[in-house]
Amino acid sequence: MTIGCHLSSSKGYLAMGKTAAEINANTFQFFTRNPRGAKAKDLDPADIQAFLDYARERGIGKILAHAPYTLNGASKDPHIREFARNTMADDLDRLERTPGNCYNFHPGSHVGQGTEAGISHIAAMLNSILKPELSTTVLLETMAGKGSEIGREFEELREILDRVELSDSMGVCLDTCHVWDAGYDIVNHLDEVLGHFDQVIGLGRLKAVHLNDSMNPLGARKDRHAKIGEGCMGLEAMTRVINHPALQNLPFYLETPNELDGYAREIRILRERFTG
Ligand code: FE
Ligand code: FE
Ligand code: ZN
Repeated sequence: MTIGCHLSSSKGYLAMGKTAAEINANTFQFFTRNPRGAKAKDLDPADIQAFLDYARERGIGKILAHAPYTLNGASKDPHIREFARNTMADDLDRLERTPGNCYNFHPGSHVGQGTEAGISHIAAMLNSILKPELSTTVLLETMAGKGSEIGREFEELREILDRVELSDSMGVCLDTCHVWDAGYDIVNHLDEVLGHFDQVIGLGRLKAVHLNDSMNPLGARKDRHAKIGEGCMGLEAMTRVINHPALQNLPFYLETPNELDGYAREIRILRERFTG
């Protein structure tokens, strides 16, 4: 089973690798920079090399970088779009130092222009930053549909994928709290929802799962994560998610409201319940 959680990147890559090993994780997610999108810290080549060696020894596989969540490549303001574009291009450039991993981002919010306009901006941005030589797979995250967020419906993600030229560089990250909040009942109808995902997007595109319970009922569009088993979805639903044949080989990332000890506990519980 490949499972980890979101970790602070403030002490560098090796520190994240060691923290992951401490809590019995074999992957982790981290923000490429301060989530509000400030300038990224300089990369330390020695830290990266030490991490790559450590990860190989300790069986830490692919990791997931997360873009700052305030970027909005779907904005109607060209300056906001340009900031998103430049930040993501810089992130992808930096991620080549740790090649072959994934980079997840929130598609963006159309803030009143309509979904279609927002989708065109996102696709145009991706077409301007993706290059054949980049080894990172860029993931669109399924969203809860708060405000004017794009990516609540699988069809919207499909639209973006269809318009990206280097579509082999693209995938999707499914967030369990977000799809539940979006109105997809993965608690009672997991097979049907994944069947629908397969029809619309294709399960082959699914590269990662954010494993979160939700504080709110189905379709609430709120995006408030809960600890595993302590929200409206429950531990049995999470257990079915990790063991589903279409999902069991994917990496799972906890983004639950926890400190390290809480993450360690959730990882232990989920490992005990993994039968794949
Ligand atoms: Fe996210
Ligand atoms: Fe998420
Ligand atoms: Zn969320």
